[in-house]
Amino acid sequence: MDDTIVAISTALGVGAISIIRLSGKDAISITNKVFKGKNLNEVESHTINYGHIYDKDELIDEVLVSVMKSPKTYTKEDVVEINCHGGINTTEKVLELLILNGARLAEPGEFTKRAFLNGRIDLTQSEAVMDLIESKSNLERKEALKNVEGRISKLIDEYRNKIMDLISHIEVNIDYPEYYDIEIVDDDKVKISLEELIKELKKLIKESEDKEIVTTGIKTIIVGRPNVGKSSILNSLLEYDKAIVTDIEGTTRDIVEGNIYIDGIHLNIIDTAGIRKTDNVVEQIGVEKSLSLIDEADLVLVVLNGNEKLTDLDKEVLEKTKNKTNIVLINKNDLEKNIDDKVLEDRVVISTNTTNMHGLDSLKEKIRELFKLDQISTNDYTYLTNTRQISLAKKALQSLENAKEGTKNNDPIDMIEIDIKNAFDLLGEIVGKNYSDEILDNLFRNFCVGK
Ligand code: GDP
Repeated sequence: MDDTIVAISTALGVGAISIIRLSGKDAISITNKVFKGKNLNEVESHTINYGHIYDKDELIDEVLVSVMKSPKTYTKEDVVEINCHGGINTTEKVLELLILNGARLAEPGEFTKRAFLNGRIDLTQSEAVMDLIESKSNLERKEALKNVEGRISKLIDEYRNKIMDLISHIEVNIDYPEYYDIEIVDDDKVKISLEELIKELKKLIKESEDKEIVTTGIKTIIVGRPNVGKSSILNSLLEYDKAIVTDIEGTTRDIVEGNIYIDGIHLNIIDTAGIRKTDNVVEQIGVEKSLSLIDEADLVLVVLNGNEKLTDLDKEVLEKTKNKTNIVLINKNDLEKNIDDKVLEDRVVISTNTTNMHGLDSLKEKIRELFKLDQISTNDYTYLTNTRQISLAKKALQSLENAKEGTKNNDPIDMIEIDIKNAFDLLGEIVGKNYSDEILDNLFRNFCVGK
């Protein structure tokens, strides 16, 4: 972290302004080498300075340079942000000059990584920065912002403090049994504390799993035999033509997808190749893919043609999807009804047509109901936001359960303490109190360069 990094922080393209950001001990002096205006080495911190960028004698751009000195900066290092005119050529030229003068091109997420390594934010806040950048709905944005501000960090800290209190009680008991004025930790005391901790952690995991769909969305898949109207339904939901709709069976060969929002929760909808027994190799691959996608989906929309009798293939699809969260759409209800829907009595069924969008509102309402979306979007509690965090919490829970089991079996208290300490460390990993390079690499690899 001794070197000074640089990257274009705005999206590269034609725009009014581009921002090039530097961080590191030489950020100011490197910029000063290519800047004509005030001497940046001497300006006050947190000032914006007007001037020009020069490549030797050649004027490159008219700029505003923000100088922010350590430690009150994004990375806690000296940070410079150069606002230049937008446009690919100018921006890249300025970047190139800064690299020639001693800065190194930043890796994806390296600014945020430095903010973490320098102790300004923890891992959950770093993850929230990413969630915030990627947020597409008001709900996603609001939830991510709370975590950038440290909502999860605070919760985990409070929880770890409780575990630490328990550890201290145990240690006092082990090391100084002759101290009469200190509360003696007998097994009951440990058991009660452990039970409370387990209860709280279980609640957190449950609520986190319920709320996980705020960030992950609901993976939805549309299945059904060819020509029943799957693409039309996807298009209607997306309200624009992304899939090709035709009358020839098997046109939607590969997988087409799109996103819609219900109460701020996004549904990633995948339209599969028509499920059909076929000899055509391309189509066959599509069909196999669509069947395998059923397993991975959170929600399956099974489409049937209400104008036709149920076929064996329809029945097969219904059978394959019966144990998943699913909604059956009897489509083409603008045409004569020929389907025998008695067999569907135990399924959630909605009658639709894409000619005048009939039933699509009921579909959205049903999804809202099935996933309790109104509760998810209004309940304001702290929850873990991704698989990494949740799986660590589950491991911590397991350690606490082991400790509880130990108390039941009258295991030595120092053995029980090992499990409790383990839970403490695992929760620490959530916020990054201890971490491996691999975890950091995985996390920051997904960031954009310049963040
Ligand atoms: P897919 O193969 O299941 O994806 O089906 P498509 O969406 O490609 O639709 C097949 C044909 O059915 C097209 O000609 C559509 O215009 C037509 N279609 C789709 N939905 C409806 C509907 O609700 N009513 C009627 N009458 N035709 C529809």
